[in-house]
Amino acid sequence: MSNHLPRVFKNPKSLPAHLMCTICNEIFTDPTRVSCGHTFCSHCILQWIKKSSTCPNCRANIDKKGTGKDLIAAADINLLTVVCSNQGCSWFGALEILESHHKECPFHPERLDPWFLEQLQRDGGTKNDNATPTVRLISWLYQKNAAALKDMFSNDDKEYSSIFEIQEENTKQKKNAKRKQEIKNENCKKFLNSKK
Ligand SMILES: [Zn+2]
Ligand SMILES: [Zn+2]
Ligand SMILES: [Zn+2]
Repeated sequence: MSNHLPRVFKNPKSLPAHLMCTICNEIFTDPTRVSCGHTFCSHCILQWIKKSSTCPNCRANIDKKGTGKDLIAAADINLLTVVCSNQGCSWFGALEILESHHKECPFHPERLDPWFLEQLQRDGGTKNDNATPTVRLISWLYQKNAAALKDMFSNDDKEYSSIFEIQEENTKQKKNAKRKQEIKNENCKKFLNSKK
């Protein structure tokens, strides 16, 4: 099982409802079925049984003895698409192959070039950054030719010390241009109003 690896589902908004635990509202972890037929995460239902003797879904009487693994739910969950949680990695695939991907993921912190890791973490090192075009592009370049990418950004006389500064600069320029246009429009309006 890949339970010890973080499960980040690719389509969190369209996860199958029948694989959701009604106690924690997440996809089951170690799906466990109780005697009435309902399934919950193993840790969720074990905690519940300590306090209650009825099923949280249908109020049927349940006890710890009647619980067992729900292998069908487990197999279904293993087929759900997850993304790799390593920063910079754009891999996604079935949960059941996540563990083998992690073993060879070029973006695993233990395998990643420290220089590249620094680039990734320099600006806003959140997981969501995997989705930005800049991160996707440099991650792709890194996978294709790490040495060339490193070389490109290692010139002493270069204008930018970080790949991300380029992105930042672009955003700034766009904002400035927008503001300038707004001022222009305002002045134009003022002028027209004064002529009325
Ligand atoms: Zn749960
Ligand atoms: Zn039930
Ligand atoms: Zn990966």
